[in-house]
Amino acid sequence: MLIKEIIAAKRDGRSLTAEQIGFVVDSLTNETMSEGQVAAFAMAVFFRGLKTEERVWLTRAMRDSGNVLTWNLPGPVIDKHSTGGIGDNVSLVLAPALAACGGFVPMISGRGLGHTGGTLDKFDAIPGYQTQPDVETLARVVEEVGCAIIGQTPDMAPADKRFYAIRDISGTIESLDLITASILSKKLAAGLDALVLDVKVGSGAFMPHVEAARQLANSLTEVANGAGCATSALITDMNEPLASAAGNALEVSNAVRFLRGDAIDSRLWDVVIALGAELLVKAKISADAETGREAIVQSFLSGRAAEVFGRMVAALGGPSGFVETFDSHLPTSQASADVYADRSGFVSEIDTRALGIAVVELGGGRQRATDKIDHTVGFEALLGLGATVEPDTPLARIHASNSSALEVARQRLRSAYVVDEKPPKIGPLIVQTIN
Ligand code: URA
Repeated sequence: MLIKEIIAAKRDGRSLTAEQIGFVVDSLTNETMSEGQVAAFAMAVFFRGLKTEERVWLTRAMRDSGNVLTWNLPGPVIDKHSTGGIGDNVSLVLAPALAACGGFVPMISGRGLGHTGGTLDKFDAIPGYQTQPDVETLARVVEEVGCAIIGQTPDMAPADKRFYAIRDISGTIESLDLITASILSKKLAAGLDALVLDVKVGSGAFMPHVEAARQLANSLTEVANGAGCATSALITDMNEPLASAAGNALEVSNAVRFLRGDAIDSRLWDVVIALGAELLVKAKISADAETGREAIVQSFLSGRAAEVFGRMVAALGGPSGFVETFDSHLPTSQASADVYADRSGFVSEIDTRALGIAVVELGGGRQRATDKIDHTVGFEALLGLGATVEPDTPLARIHASNSSALEVARQRLRSAYVVDEKPPKIGPLIVQTIN
């Protein structure tokens, strides 16, 4: 087989065979395919697209380009993936809840991307927590505790690493086919039996419009199921931050308070319960959605999810007793202040993406891949859509590294929030379920 013939076939709109796609992925991984050829292949796919079966073959081949974990556990191996949002700390509370319900969760997570936060950056705020353990440690923690939230190891889906980097410089990131294969190859390399996807839509999501979110959700569920992993997707609203905190240590604190039952953000609760119930049914742990909901709710009310979280943190090198003493372990910011609404009315609109960018500007995310993150900065006590405000009502509290960064963030926050006399129309939180 010749790579240039395969590229030309896709350029001309022809379908590829499983063998041709497998050859492309092998050549991509062992670098016999040049950067130019990879970019040309990506561009051909971008314009001509892949049929569902081609997407499944591409996903499988990319998954199999490295180590695929295998498990021998007394329950199903399950996971959740989010397309990214602001104040989206679902993974922190859902993984231990699923483990408390009998699932085993090797959650391979990512770092912040663009304006959205990353689960691994949040865990890096916990002193000692190892986000990059070896595969043996991952396997041991999943078996003993029930869940482990860690980063991708270099031998998991290595084809995606090179492919993504070349797509990034060749204008081919925004291909539905390639996004699908990229996300799923990494997730499925964890050897999952079932998966639930949280596809975000709205002002803080990568997909601001529901039609694009639906297309991605359909593509991901179709391909994941086609690759042998029982999968559903929920399209959920991201027109406001999901939790009331955005920023790494602040989100960890928010999640631990949630697990302890001290302070529970209602939208976060609803999304966590909906995703958890869906996944428990897919994994055949629960017979139906109602039983699934009850199991997840009980895992929180009984304190079992909190206990699992504490054991996971300790098993991965963090402080023991973290759930009880988190406040004394999490780093705190140098400067903080409330930002006021300045007028009476209702929070009628939030530019959620602008809030995410403000967190990055504060130093809570990366502008370049090599940037170091300040885990202490961000927003807490963020008001949600529809909240009633007076001139002296805080919209949020800012945490910054110094007073000038705090001033910039104050301006950003003020212009991200619209306060109006009339209450806004708020759409559904769970927009659609696709399975
Ligand atoms: N996230 C990924 O992992 N891959 C993509 O292609 C886009 C988003």
